Amino acid sequence: MSNSSALVLFSGGQDSTVCLAWALDRYQRVETVGFTYGQRHAVEVAQRPVIRSKLAVLGDWRAKLGADTVLDLPALQSISDTALTRETEIAFSSTGLPTTFVPGRNLLFLTYAAALAYRRGIGTLVGGMCETDFSGYPDCRNATIQALAQALSLGLDKPMTIETPLMFVDKAETWDMASKLGGEALVDTVVEDTHTCYLGDRSHRHDWGYGCGSCPACALRAKGWTEWRAKTR
Ligand code: ZN
Repeated sequence: MSNSSALVLFSGGQDSTVCLAWALDRYQRVETVGFTYGQRHAVEVAQRPVIRSKLAVLGDWRAKLGADTVLDLPALQSISDTALTRETEIAFSSTGLPTTFVPGRNLLFLTYAAALAYRRGIGTLVGGMCETDFSGYPDCRNATIQALAQALSLGLDKPMTIETPLMFVDKAETWDMASKLGGEALVDTVVEDTHTCYLGDRSHRHDWGYGCGSCPACALRAKGWTEWRAKTR
């Protein structure tokens, strides 16, 4: 398995876009994988090729950026009964997790990604999982991810590393990473082309990008942007 190549779990959101830039800065060959599962808003999926083409013209990244694979996981829609896939209101449950939470979703994504990486001769997965967002999705925690990396390495009988550059980083630091990795051009792409709004709103443009401005994902993105801007001025 190659240590000079990586497979990035790339959704078209802010976090996975910064992870893609992080990987392009470090690895010789970088491929991407995305998942479709009846998302309410196809906008995030539609932005993926746009963002890939913008990143390709930064630095020497075009030569490194390899294939993109989209895997369809319709079974997830059957399992979930949440705001992510049904037309119900976004809310927070008593546990503090948004109702968009699909139990164990990232375990499934990483396992499918590992199977694809194995086929492509890639030994490193890169994902935007993060402990600092919201109350912390349990399948995004570092202990979960590292335990899964061990299980995947055993199950594939090949070493499989999972890199999570945003694990202990807050949203202000994510903007800072974008700036350091790709300068203003990358920050502009994150603002203009990445999508994180839970409501799929691309009709309202803010300093920090498009979104409804009030859902938890927009609130988090806006807060991070404001904090980062305050530090850089
Ligand atoms: Zn929103």
